[in-house]
Amino acid sequence: MSRGDGTAAPSEHVGIEGFMEGVKRRNPGQPEFVQAVQEVAEDIFDFIEGKEEYHRWQILRRIAEPDRVVSFRVSWEDDEHNIRVQRGYRVQNNNAIGPYKGGLRFHPSVNESILKFLAFEQTFKNALTGLPMGGGKGGANFNPKGKSDGEIMRFCQSFMTELYRHIGADVDVPAGDIGVGGREIGYMFGQYKRITNSFEGVLTGKGLEYGGSLIRPEATGYGAVYFLENMLKTKGQDLTGKRAVISGSGNVATHAAEKIVQLGGKVLTLSDSEGFVYDPDGFTQEKIDWVKTHKTRRRGRISDYAKEYKTATFHAGERPWGVECDVALPCATQNELNGKEAELLIKNGCIAVSEGANMPTDLEGVHLFRKAKTLYAPGKAANAGGVAVSGLEMSQNSARISWKVDELQRLLRDIMDGIHERCLEYGEREKGYVDYVRGANIAGFKKVADAMLAFGVV
Ligand code: NAP
Repeated sequence: MSRGDGTAAPSEHVGIEGFMEGVKRRNPGQPEFVQAVQEVAEDIFDFIEGKEEYHRWQILRRIAEPDRVVSFRVSWEDDEHNIRVQRGYRVQNNNAIGPYKGGLRFHPSVNESILKFLAFEQTFKNALTGLPMGGGKGGANFNPKGKSDGEIMRFCQSFMTELYRHIGADVDVPAGDIGVGGREIGYMFGQYKRITNSFEGVLTGKGLEYGGSLIRPEATGYGAVYFLENMLKTKGQDLTGKRAVISGSGNVATHAAEKIVQLGGKVLTLSDSEGFVYDPDGFTQEKIDWVKTHKTRRRGRISDYAKEYKTATFHAGERPWGVECDVALPCATQNELNGKEAELLIKNGCIAVSEGANMPTDLEGVHLFRKAKTLYAPGKAANAGGVAVSGLEMSQNSARISWKVDELQRLLRDIMDGIHERCLEYGEREKGYVDYVRGANIAGFKKVADAMLAFGVV
């Protein structure tokens, strides 16, 4: 709505349609970011109805505009002495409740839209943990697949040579994400330390020898299963004997599978970007360990699992959502579960979905799960365990101490229980039905919004 002076009328006063039109207009060619804002706006508009301060201070409009987006060139030399150029980014979305915090993704699909959606989601997720962390995300359109160790090291060093000026232990603390694990964090931390001559907790997911935290690698997958357990408990059920379908075979997927097995469930599938493997006998701890080693050390493909374990079959180019199951955990990437696949899961009797990945279900799928009253936990609630333990790594670094594994396990469990409680508080729509999407969106929004109200217009 134009005011004749070239400025737009306060967008939250024009209703959700007008608000979303503005978001689309200001972010052309950024479908993932628009999708993430849309999913949150639907619940927030409902919640802020009649709450004048949130409207007047344009809180959602301000959270949906990143504080800053930094984009930079990353030049590096490959093993054949070719000079390669990639684009790196850091999106600092909101630091109302703490330093920016969120992972770095190295994947050829990385672009501004994907990182803005992830940084926006991260803002709500971090608030839900109860820890003092703002929201950010970054990465590069670099494909680590098939690269030698030396190439990975040179890329990470070049990436950090620019990134270092935008981050800091009290400013912005990146971590890993797709394509960025312990090895990459090590190379980047080494370069940061060299450039700045300071040893500080500027990255999380570090090795234990230089300031990392116990259980950080396990935390996202384990946390997603704890959240699933909490949802099942509201229906008087647990994981014993439940058949689980999981996508992905990276950090989140393998640790989610491990925890399901520990709690008495049966994991039927894992996948990667080339297809999925179905093991009717179920993945044991030994088989999961084989997958971990194969993917992270041998840098192999999930299809090889079916060659190693003859009872399993590989389904090239397919996703696992057609396999009959009781619970599903999408743990690979965004928009990997669409409306049709959500329908199939519901039809096949799947009662609960816990998202290890960020925004793996598309908008149509989310609507279908909510309509069917499936126990459906969005990523910002279910996969917050990883960033929560990253937050604990920051605390340990600041205090220059290391907590023991039992203490960290207890804290992770408490944090996941706390997130579940907060979802119940804002998401219980009727007796016996909790809308976890609504609960997570409102609880996350309220904490950030109330801090922003305290600061005035800055
Ligand atoms: P990862 O270790 O790199 O594993 C990613 C997995 O997803 C791999 O199996 C990969 O297969 C698959 N994948 C990637 N892109 C895909 C695509 N376009 N289609 C199908 N499969 C694809 O990454 P991760 O840390 O497990 O992260 C997985 C998800 O969890 C992401 O959405 C991430 O944002 C989210 N998450 C991670 C953490 C964390 O602590 N790591 C915390 C919160 C949320 P290939 O091997 O074929 O590439």
